[in-house]
Amino acid sequence: MRILIVEDERRLVGALKRGLEREGYAVDALFSGEDAAAGLEAAPEEYDVVILDVMLPGIDGVQVCRDLRAEGIAIPILMLTARDSTRDKVLGMDSGADDYLVKPFAFEELLARLRMLLRRPPVLLPAQLTVGELVLDSARRRVTRRGREIRLTAKEFALLELLMRNAGQVLSREQIMAHVWDAEFDSFSNVVDVHVKNLRKKVDDGRGDSLLETVRELGYRLRA
Ligand code: CA
Repeated sequence: MRILIVEDERRLVGALKRGLEREGYAVDALFSGEDAAAGLEAAPEEYDVVILDVMLPGIDGVQVCRDLRAEGIAIPILMLTARDSTRDKVLGMDSGADDYLVKPFAFEELLARLRMLLRRPPVLLPAQLTVGELVLDSARRRVTRRGREIRLTAKEFALLELLMRNAGQVLSREQIMAHVWDAEFDSFSNVVDVHVKNLRKKVDDGRGDSLLETVRELGYRLRA
């Protein structure tokens, strides 16, 4: 589990980083809203959760959070607010943050909140899917083909999971968009095609026949 801390108080960052690393998390830190927005928009799948302070130089935490959500980035965000005021709380939740913690807080409380955010939604569907040589483990977020692990981004993983759950059926771009992307995403963009292309490259890994078929005019299908 990889955590990004965005906070300009370096002593607090240092203490959090040490504490979280002791708990087994991988931790990176950024000290400004600009850096956080740029880094997360470029590679949101790098992190499992973001700890984001509201008070930052330049772009503040609320704005960073709003911008990320506007970009369709759904990474869990825990906001740190300085005062226990209703306005801060509302702003924090309004911005699309998943949770907030009021400073000063006990480290144990932070750990508890992180565990809540990192907890997967209840597994109602079988956690492990197998289609031909492909095995996808949704609980462990792991995909293998003939036992060899395939490293996927969060979106590629979601896309493959959808295709595997519907193996043998053609899924239209609209269906894929509705399941894997946020509703407000521009449906005229070629984002689905781009992700399918990248996913196909990783899944096929230079093999001849692609498992991921393009069905002209209709969409995509994973061979069952
Ligand atoms: Ca701060």
